[in-house]
Amino acid sequence: MIKEDGYPYAFDPSACAGCGGRCCTGESGNIFVSPDEIRALAGALSMEEADFRRTYLEKRGYKFSLKEKIVGMSHDCIFFDRETNGCGVYTARPLQCRTFPFWEYYKTRVDELKRECPGIVDV
Ligand code: SF4
Ligand code: SF4
Repeated sequence: MIKEDGYPYAFDPSACAGCGGRCCTGESGNIFVSPDEIRALAGALSMEEADFRRTYLEKRGYKFSLKEKIVGMSHDCIFFDRETNGCGVYTARPLQCRTFPFWEYYKTRVDELKRECPGIVDV
């Protein structure tokens, strides 16, 4: 069980095995990446940064987000693999992914978070 100071919930990572990657799929959203993260992701895929940007990123306002792919009714992250239920860039995944479900946004929206993530546990 993982707890973070200041958060009114804990997270049980064992829930991920049976979840189907709900945090990487579903409604359309933004997965923002910083310049350092873009470099790391391109390196992990042995790609030139310019090629990586063209292939995997979309501009959203003044930031860049990972693209999505439509699978049925779902907007999957471009790197989500439905066969393995896993992230194709796991070791280089952005901070936004590493810190889920401990996002400031969810501190006051625990019910919304519980609907998305079955690993959320009351503390
Ligand atoms: S939604 Fe929660 S339980 Fe499911 S894969 Fe993401 S972190 Fe794991
Ligand atoms: S980069 Fe990986 S962990 Fe992050 S949303 Fe995409 S598939 Fe999920």
